[in-house]
Amino acid sequence: MKFDLFQLKGQVAIVTGCNTGLGQGMAIALAEAGADVVGINQSAPEDTRQAVEALGRRFLDLRADMADIGRIPSLITQALALSGRIDILVNNAGIIRREDAIDFGERDWDEVIDVNLKSAFFLSQAMAKLCMAQGRGGKIINVASMLSFQGGIRVPSYTASKSGVMGLTKALANEWAAHGINVNAIAPGYMATNNTAALRADEARNAAITARIPSGRWGTPSDMAGPVVFLASQASDYVHGYTLAVDGGWLAR
Ligand code: NAD
Repeated sequence: MKFDLFQLKGQVAIVTGCNTGLGQGMAIALAEAGADVVGINQSAPEDTRQAVEALGRRFLDLRADMADIGRIPSLITQALALSGRIDILVNNAGIIRREDAIDFGERDWDEVIDVNLKSAFFLSQAMAKLCMAQGRGGKIINVASMLSFQGGIRVPSYTASKSGVMGLTKALANEWAAHGINVNAIAPGYMATNNTAALRADEARNAAITARIPSGRWGTPSDMAGPVVFLASQASDYVHGYTLAVDGGWLAR
C-alpha cells in the first residue's frame, strides 16, 4: 500500500462554508494533507485561515452567498486567478429550517433548497467545466446527511435537499466519471456543530439520539478528516457516485 496515495501537496481545494463546523474541519484536514484552500464564506473565516496558514498552506478568502447562483461562474474564475489551479471542490455550505410539515412555508423551502442543493449543482457544473478544460480530472465532494437515507422530523426541505444531494452525486458521477472527475458525497451522522445546536439543547432529543448512536457519541468536525482526504485524493480514483456515511454506526442500526 502506498500511503502517499493520500497526499494532496500542490493541489487546491475549494471548500464552501468553512468558517465553522464540518467545513472548517474538512478545510484543515485537506491542508494537513498538503492542499491550499480557497474558502467561500459569507463572513470572515479567521480561525480557519489561521489554522490553514499555521500548516504552511495558502488560504484564499472569497465571499459569497451560495444562495445566489449568479455569482458562481465569477467565483470559479476568481478562485482560479488567485490559486492558479483547482483540483477539489467540497460543497459543504448548508442550512436547516425546523417546522411541522403542515405549517412549513415557501421561504423555508426555497432558501434551504437554494443553498443545499441548487448551489451544489451549479458550483459542481462550473467546477466540472474547469476540470474538463484543465484536462486532469478532479474531485467533487458533496455533503449529504442521514436525511439522504431517512425522512427526519420537522425538516422537510432539508430532507428533500439532502436526498437530492445523494441523487445528484450519482447522476453527476455517471456523466463525469469518464472525464476523470470523481463525484462522491459524505453523509455525516449527528455531529456537534451550529447546525445541531437546537437538537443538542433539547435534553430529551439529545439523550435519545446519543443512545441510538452505536459509537455512543456525537461526531465532531475532525471525524470528517479521513473521509474527506480519502475522497479528495488518488486513493479514491475508482470510487464514483458513492455516499459514504460517517455516522458512528447510525445507519447500521
Ligand atoms: P454549520 O452551521 O456550522 O456550518 C454551515 C456552514 O455553511 C457555515 O460555514 C455557514 O456560514 C455556511 N453557509 C450557510 N448558508 C450559506 C450561504 N447562503 N452562503 C455561504 N455559506 C453559507 O453546520 P455544519 O454542521 O458544519 O454543516 C455543514 C454541512 O454539513 C451542511 O451542509 C450540513 O447540512 C451538513 N450536515 C451537518 C450535520 C450535523 O449533524 N451537524 C449532519 C449532516 C449534514
